[in-house]
Amino acid sequence: AFDFSNRHVMVTGAASGIGRATALGFAAAGARVSAVDLNAEGLAGTAAASDRIETQVCDLADSEAIRAMAGAAIEAQGPVTVLVNNAGVDRRIPFDDQTEAQWRWMLSVNLDHHAILSGLVAPGMAAAGGGAIVNLSSTAWMKLAGNLTAYHTAKAGIVGLTRGLARDLGPRGIRANAIAPGRVVTDRVAGQVSEDWVAESHALQCIPDLIRPSDIADCAMWLASDAARMVTGQCIVVDGGVV
Ligand code: NAD
Repeated sequence: AFDFSNRHVMVTGAASGIGRATALGFAAAGARVSAVDLNAEGLAGTAAASDRIETQVCDLADSEAIRAMAGAAIEAQGPVTVLVNNAGVDRRIPFDDQTEAQWRWMLSVNLDHHAILSGLVAPGMAAAGGGAIVNLSSTAWMKLAGNLTAYHTAKAGIVGLTRGLARDLGPRGIRANAIAPGRVVTDRVAGQVSEDWVAESHALQCIPDLIRPSDIADCAMWLASDAARMVTGQCIVVDGGVV
């Protein structure tokens, strides 16, 4: 079992799915967690499951809001020593129907917030003796799923961002890695999962079983733990063996 006692772990997109499972996983491992999301109701549901979780309502597409949120969370719980940049939106928009505003919004939520928040917490993380950043990518861009060009751009960009962070922050004791999940059965999609979908997933994967949010949370905890102390700049695919 992992031990994150007395660590301040920040998880974005923690109102549901992978982010909620990750926040709860770190809290169960002893961390003080800042759970960040736009969805206040969902955040309250996450916080209700553990007394070690504090919530921060924030629109991560707004850099001023990110700055204010990071300042408030650090003041409340001390320097962030693990940051999981997980919030994301996978809106399908045909490429030539897309407005410039939609494109910029997709990149703000799915890529920019990871860079902005990493930059805001890195000085405190370094001063506290180091830490770990985990960014959520996806296998979608590796598999060429349709009408997701902005999403692909952001999720591939996360791999480049992660490698840059690893190079620039490593000498100050900060590791940066990414996780690329395959098809994860979160609560949001659980009700829509048909027998055909399950059969198709099992046929595509080497390991014929459903991927749970906790599978991604476990990988994030391993990457953030001392067990991965020499792992940095990597993108770990957690997809049951599709790509
Ligand atoms: P989800 O929709 O259940 O959770 C995403 C969370 O991000 C939500 O709580 C949402 O409110 C929050 N969010 C969205 N926009 C926001 C904003 N502007 N400001 C603050 N919060 C915002 O999604 P999930 O399936 O748990 O996915 C989590 C991450 O994993 C995403 O980055 C997603 O791209 C990635 N991912 C998911 C899968 C999958 O199959 N579920 C596969 C590959 C990658």
